[in-house]
Amino acid sequence: MKVGIVGAGMVGSAAGYALALTGAASRIVLVDRSEALALAQAQDIAHAVPFASAVAVEAGGYEALAGADVVILAAGVGQKPGESRLALLERNAAVFEDVIAAVLRAAVDPILLVATNPVDVMTHVTAKLAGLAPGRVFGSGTILDTARFRSLVAHHLGLAPQSIHGYVLGEHGDSEVLGWSGARVGSEPLASVAAQLGCAITADVRARIDDGVRRAAYRIIEGKGATNYGIGAGLARIVQAIGRDEGAVMSLSLVTPELAGVQNVALSLPRVVGAQGIRSTLMPTLDADEIAALTASARMLRDTSDALGL
Ligand code: ADP
Repeated sequence: MKVGIVGAGMVGSAAGYALALTGAASRIVLVDRSEALALAQAQDIAHAVPFASAVAVEAGGYEALAGADVVILAAGVGQKPGESRLALLERNAAVFEDVIAAVLRAAVDPILLVATNPVDVMTHVTAKLAGLAPGRVFGSGTILDTARFRSLVAHHLGLAPQSIHGYVLGEHGDSEVLGWSGARVGSEPLASVAAQLGCAITADVRARIDDGVRRAAYRIIEGKGATNYGIGAGLARIVQAIGRDEGAVMSLSLVTPELAGVQNVALSLPRVVGAQGIRSTLMPTLDADEIAALTASARMLRDTSDALGL
């Protein structure tokens, strides 16, 4: 499978590296407005290939995206001092106007996987600009928040994160909602397993895990200026699910016709991913507090989309 990556910065290059190591792609093309950066990243990743799987890694202009099955969008501009969030968003949306047009001139009917933040709104921007079938344009959304949630719960219980099933929903950001009420360990409700293991999920534990998930990016950015490895691995995992037509369930951002009375809003819910992109959505069972929080998250995202005229 050929995968294009537009934006060879921290996130784009980590995605390329993870794709090369996992062998989820057979061909990777990095595109950046800095040709020198794209080339340097491609060469560095290519030098990992002899230690990993048979993957061709190259840099190029947009024309090199011809034949790409999936294009990961990780291009973006940083916040200028004193710039508002909305002004930054408007600038990133303007960047995407050129980027999406150039991608679609080269690649025929690709799947567009959005990673640029704020990922929900950028997913909405991309869906509107691209005009592809609805399931072919989606964002990494809360895939990473879900991974953090599972890791922290697993650590508390002394179990493997792969055995924890639960999702973070809504916005990838401050208003996201941890789906505690539906979380399972294997097939058992979380609370029952926690009691059996003598590791009750008390209000304190819950607050600590909630904070750990919600504030993880802030803490990592304080320490190293960006987050890239976790999201890079998540993006490679999504590409793998597409390439194998898996039908894997992941929390991803997609323009959703209606959620709790909020229309036409991009946010994360558990989505089924296969060769055509997102095949369907699995609406989780939530308690009253979670429904209220998810509704608030959806309204907030809808307000931002309104401000951008989406
Ligand atoms: P992040 O941490 O989100 O990856 P970076 O700033 O490291 O952020 O990477 C963003 C990348 O997007 C940069 O390498 C930048 O050159 C690239 N970029 C910005 N605008 C465009 C554009 N119009 N076309 C292609 N790449 C772009």
